Amino acid sequence: MAAAYHGGDRAELREAIRTIQDYPKPGIAFRDISTLLGNPRAFRRAVDELVQPYAGAGISKVAGIEARGFILGGAIAHQLSCGFVPIRKKGKLPHATVSISYSLEYGTDTMEMHVDAVSKGERVILVDDLIATGGTASAAVQLLQKLGAEVVAACFVIDLPELGGADRIRELGVPVRTLIAFDGH
Ligand code: AMP
Repeated sequence: MAAAYHGGDRAELREAIRTIQDYPKPGIAFRDISTLLGNPRAFRRAVDELVQPYAGAGISKVAGIEARGFILGGAIAHQLSCGFVPIRKKGKLPHATVSISYSLEYGTDTMEMHVDAVSKGERVILVDDLIATGGTASAAVQLLQKLGAEVVAACFVIDLPELGGADRIRELGVPVRTLIAFDGH
């Protein structure tokens, strides 16, 4: 039988994440969730904890951000018995899309969704592995809102609170749920 969860005790998740210093460039500590995904207990626990507040909350779609948000989002959607919709980098989706451009440290990027991926008023949760500055997630929230979705929450395994991303999403009126936080970038 699965052990009961005790909200704050997330050492198992933290320990399952590998940190690669100075990747992809000097000064960045890359939080690699591939080790968490490869650990059966930690993967299950991360998904269960992300799902928990939304069971029975009338969510009809999970939107995942390419690419790690697809893995977590697919598992969450299955557990909530709801649909999954991908938010992808420009040029990857085959049908008619809506798009949004957002700023990166250098330059801009564009993400897209199929125009019919969600309908007006649908209750959606947004999922990615990590929130840093919140630029990616805030663009995804705006894309979902553009299609008329009600973004019930934005959910991440990891928060880097020093970069202020979660506050940026809350300013868009969307609650944020994260499981663990790391200091620094
Ligand atoms: P941001 O738009 O700054 O919130 O960056 C979030 C996106 O970049 C997510 O899709 C993350 O997977 C990725 N990302 C940003 N910083 C890191 C980091 N330190 N380790 C791993 N992934 C990161």
